Amino acid sequence: MELVKKKGDCCGCRTCEQVCPKGAIHMEADECGFLYPQIDPEKCVDCGLCLEKCAFQSGYKKRKTFEPYYGYGVRHKKKEVYMNSRSGGAFTALSNAVLAQSGVIYGAGFAPEDEPYFVKHISAQTKADRNKMRGSKYVQSDLGHVFSELKEKLEAGQSVLFSGTGCQVGALHAFLPREYENLYTIDIICHGVPSPRLWADFVHMREEEKAGKAQRAEFRNKKKCGWKAHKETVVINGTPYTSRIYTKMFYGCNIRESCFQCPYANKNRPGDITLADFWGHEKAMPGMWDDDKGISLVLVNNPQGMKLWEAAKEEVDFVDVTGYPYRHGRLKKPMERPEAYDEFWDDYKQEGFAYCAEKYAGYKIKGPGPQPADSSSEGQKESILIRLWKKLSGKEG
Ligand SMILES: Cc1cc2nc3c(=O)[nH]c(=O)nc-3n(C[C@H](O)[C@H](O)[C@H](O)COP(=O)(O)OP(=O)(O)OC[C@H]3O[C@@H](n4cnc5c(N)ncnc54)[C@H](O)[C@@H]3O)c2cc1C
Ligand code: SF4
Ligand code: SF4
Ligand code: SF4
Repeated sequence: MELVKKKGDCCGCRTCEQVCPKGAIHMEADECGFLYPQIDPEKCVDCGLCLEKCAFQSGYKKRKTFEPYYGYGVRHKKKEVYMNSRSGGAFTALSNAVLAQSGVIYGAGFAPEDEPYFVKHISAQTKADRNKMRGSKYVQSDLGHVFSELKEKLEAGQSVLFSGTGCQVGALHAFLPREYENLYTIDIICHGVPSPRLWADFVHMREEEKAGKAQRAEFRNKKKCGWKAHKETVVINGTPYTSRIYTKMFYGCNIRESCFQCPYANKNRPGDITLADFWGHEKAMPGMWDDDKGISLVLVNNPQGMKLWEAAKEEVDFVDVTGYPYRHGRLKKPMERPEAYDEFWDDYKQEGFAYCAEKYAGYKIKGPGPQPADSSSEGQKESILIRLWKKLSGKEG
């Protein structure tokens, strides 16, 4: 069975791994830190189920039935909530509505919690645990085996809210055998997911520079720099260090190959509700919340989404912007592949982080920094990312 002919055909959702009846598929990270399926030819019986269930390659279920979808400019009523969220805190209100039904929430968090190297999907049944999902993490979140776990909760009748990028939500709907009244899905508008390896190397580099242990990280630190700014903060030994190094490397070159041919970059959303930063709010609702503290755009795509929005809307202030020509590029087409993409990754693999930080971000690292990616098994053993993957999947530590 040839499942992935070229890297751009796979978003790394792990659905194939979970549906294969022979357990013939496992995921492996490439040199950039992105996961791809590997098929064991000894176990594979060529049944074709993996490709059939691959929403990225075989087509996804469009969830949008409203025409046009209902659109709202949203800010949570509590300042503490929207200041700790990426945009206006809509996700907190929507997930609170599901927690109120004793439901379970799935979203992206750091794992383990006290190490900001690695992002994966986690579950929450309390507000405190859900709060760990707040804020955008600009790195691909590993889904692990949450689809199988989530299906058990659905079958047991528990309410479930799953939030993720378009391809993660599309993959979930392809994985599940049927529709569930107790399932709500939120897709976030997304231009692409950056490399887990690059992020881990960045955090490691900051630790070496500051001679300490990273305790926490905040992508796009809104509280310090404003909603529109793009600076990352890493807290090392209690001191926050904020920089634009990661951002400068972030735009374009460090995105997963599949994002440049994303089938979800259009108005046919895969979730019941779509969330985004409300760029263009100045024209859509002049004079409202023009203070650089963040506004969510909430698109309600179908009746299931409306049920959730109705249950959540008391918690937020909102303006109806239905029918407004939203300016989000990713509602029209995928991000363009940068001309320097191949050169960037060739440099990264051969020369390593320090070289690329200087060449692409104009930043000179004090000290050697993380070493070049090493595809040999000895080199892979040394990688922080590989160690964490093993630890989290129970294969080590
Ligand atoms: C990789 C990435 C790219 C993005 N690109 C765009 C864009 O092009 N245009 C735009 O308008 N907005 C973009 N966003 C921002 C996104 O739309 C906001 O996170 C969303 O508006 C939610 O904000 P909030 O204030 O409602 O709630 P928050 O509480 O801040 O929302 C957090 C939500 O985002 C999810 N999330 C965070 N990180 C990830 C991740 N790595 N993978 C999957 N889910 C994640 C969490 O599970 C949670 O559901 C991007 C976010 C990410 C993570
Ligand atoms: S997109 Fe998902 S289902 Fe398709 S090949 Fe990649 S990991 Fe497997
Ligand atoms: S073709 Fe069937 S047996 Fe082979 S890897 Fe795919 S799902 Fe598994
Ligand atoms: S751009 Fe598309 S393929 Fe890439 S992470 Fe976002 S939804 Fe998935």
